[in-house]
Amino acid sequence: MACTAESVAAALRAAAGAVVAHRDELVRLDREIGDGDHGENLKRGFDALVSKLDAGVPASPSAVLRLAATTLISTVGGAAGPLYGTAFLRASTAVGDVAVLDGPGAAAALRSALDGVVARGKAEVGDKTMVDALTPAVVAAASVAAGGGGVAEVLEAAAEAAEQGAASTVPLVARKGRASYLGERSAGHLDPGARSTVLLLRALAGAAR
Ligand code: ADP
Ligand code: MG
Ligand code: MG
Repeated sequence: MACTAESVAAALRAAAGAVVAHRDELVRLDREIGDGDHGENLKRGFDALVSKLDAGVPASPSAVLRLAATTLISTVGGAAGPLYGTAFLRASTAVGDVAVLDGPGAAAALRSALDGVVARGKAEVGDKTMVDALTPAVVAAASVAAGGGGVAEVLEAAAEAAEQGAASTVPLVARKGRASYLGERSAGHLDPGARSTVLLLRALAGAAR
């Protein structure tokens, strides 16, 4: 499938749908090791994004991703708002001036998104954050893209790897973000941001299929 600006917008609408469907789950996860707002923060941001897309879809994949970035940065708040906002902003820059996104382009966008999250939040793998889901996703995406995979295959591999990465956060003690205030008591819980990364990637992959 050719991944045009319209397809990127449709994929972001699917991501918004996943956030709405899983709002309560993300709130519950964040209540366990944070302040319980992650689901509502993301829902606010993606609701705002859908409203903007309803008003008009920007002309290129890059411009759609940039709209997602600026909207999330200005509406989500908390730790996740600037982090996801930066992720989409870097993805937008990485995609560049193309009318149609391909597999390597999607993999490069994911790589840049991760780089942005790390530059902003300074988390490493094992710190029990969204980086634990996004890092293996980037590795899997690069490998599938190098093998000739299209956008859907790249995103599906990314989502699958993210799921494993998110699961790996359960036994970890948090070293970044609000959950780190709990120290050892943060162990035994799934990181909400790692979970939302899985949900977003799954939704994007499903839309690209
Ligand atoms: P807040 O903690 O400010 O209420 P959210 O609840 O929306 O923000 O988001 C919490 C999530 O943000 C965490 O589950 C974690 O995945 C992610 N996070 C927090 N700090 C960092 C960081 N420094 N780097 C990467 N991700 C982080
Ligand atoms: Mg929170
Ligand atoms: Mg908060």
